[in-house]
Amino acid sequence: MDRLILFDIDGTILNTGGAGSGAMLEALKEVFGRDVPHEGYRMSGKTDTQICLELMTSAGLSEEEVRTGLDAVWAAYVAGVQRRLSDGFEAKVCPGVQEAVERLHHDARALLGLLTGNIRAGAMVKLGAVGLDGYFRTGAFGDDHHDRHRLADIALERGQQEAGRAFTGKEVVIIGDTPNDIACGQHLGVRTVIVATGTYTVEQLRPHNPDHLFETLKDTDRILDAIFG
Ligand SMILES: [Mg+2]
Repeated sequence: MDRLILFDIDGTILNTGGAGSGAMLEALKEVFGRDVPHEGYRMSGKTDTQICLELMTSAGLSEEEVRTGLDAVWAAYVAGVQRRLSDGFEAKVCPGVQEAVERLHHDARALLGLLTGNIRAGAMVKLGAVGLDGYFRTGAFGDDHHDRHRLADIALERGQQEAGRAFTGKEVVIIGDTPNDIACGQHLGVRTVIVATGTYTVEQLRPHNPDHLFETLKDTDRILDAIFG
């Protein structure tokens, strides 16, 4: 295996049309019993743990109080996402993802994993909704750590265990859709392949200098060149 390929989920693999963020705000209100100020708050590129900590400390709780409630938040959140996706909201796969993931899944050079701010259970519900939950053999999730940079370290460790070899430098590929994904890749010195299928446009992403930047993952040959080139 030559590449550890770590996919982000929201905005990169799929979009849930607000099912995730709506379920998160509802779960926080349900568990902590108070209104959650979220005007102008941007969840994209953040871990679920980070989102809970930021929103609820700004609502007046201590970090310790928030952490104590996290397990209850996750349970309510996953139930909320499931309910939304079975009633009204539709998870939509981003253009080209299905084919790119299939090709990489069958490519002996690639180990596919996830690097996502979603908690593991939430990630599986979202991926399951579009039939893509069986493709990723390793990963790090938003309930492993609140800091996305640390999450990447965890994904690297797990990828190494899974493959039985270390991946270094540009052998590691982060596929994402936000400036945070780019910063995370640069922090680690790994390859970033970025798409504008989330909430950021190509023009907004370019100044952050990803290694490769695409509108979508649609042109599979070019995407594979970017990954293996
Ligand atoms: Mg994303």
